[in-house]
Amino acid sequence: MNKLERPTYDDDAALDALAGNPLLGSHPTLQSHVAKLKAAYMQYVAASGDVRAVAPVALPATTATHLRGHYGSPPKALAHIAEIRMRSDSNTCPMCGSLHSGTLDHVMDKEDHPAFSIFSQNLVPACKCNSKRLKPLVGPNPGERILHPYFDTVLSERIVAAYLTDLGAIPRIETRIVLDPLNPHFAAASFHHDSVIMRTGIHGYLLSRWAKLMLRPWLIVPELRLNPVDRSEFVSIVGAELVRNDEIRDSKNNWDSVFLSGLLDDHVVDWLYARLTRPGRLPNGPLL
Ligand SMILES: [Zn+2]
Repeated sequence: MNKLERPTYDDDAALDALAGNPLLGSHPTLQSHVAKLKAAYMQYVAASGDVRAVAPVALPATTATHLRGHYGSPPKALAHIAEIRMRSDSNTCPMCGSLHSGTLDHVMDKEDHPAFSIFSQNLVPACKCNSKRLKPLVGPNPGERILHPYFDTVLSERIVAAYLTDLGAIPRIETRIVLDPLNPHFAAASFHHDSVIMRTGIHGYLLSRWAKLMLRPWLIVPELRLNPVDRSEFVSIVGAELVRNDEIRDSKNNWDSVFLSGLLDDHVVDWLYARLTRPGRLPNGPLL
């Protein structure tokens, strides 16, 4: 999960170029819908990408098919689609926080919302969570909706942390919302967590981080090569590593930061500190 700068491509110009190209199969069908699509784009931005507020756009089935087809095989006028996809490589996934992306996600899916199939503000870099997330874009309760990485600044805040219990070789690891419940986007963040993040492999990833921490603590927190002098120093070390991860990944909700946040819960700190400092343990040795 991550807030991204909005793309600055001229979508209206791209539409004009598409609709005016007699060599494309969409010509001249698309021409009669250019004004409606431009108005829809403007309304989408005015609604700040809030899927509850973006008005539905009725299009004939043939026009919808052409627009989806142009996304799948972009003509020259849509060269920016490949650019957005290419630029997304190796970055934190803005939709789920995994440590890679590489493909594009339609925030409003092109099957149900074909008008936004090629709209750059609707195309967000993503990982394979793109194909796993739940279909409904809104939930039954007030405020529940998918978050939009180009518009929702709440994505810059810490929203998700790991929650570890039954500490040992294989603990129970869940994810929980740590955003202030009074935040106006709390319901949306919770819905996004359930619809997107819970559908990914995040829990397996967090377990693999824990396994490494048990074996070689410095692999997860380099400063733990040496044992902390007291509990308070341990908390400072893990907290500093969390901030370092946030900055490296440009995201407070990347999966490594989600894991490190979970280590700072009091009961986890107590358990880890006791393990780190138990009699007979060699510095940087295993915790179990
Ligand atoms: Zn993802």
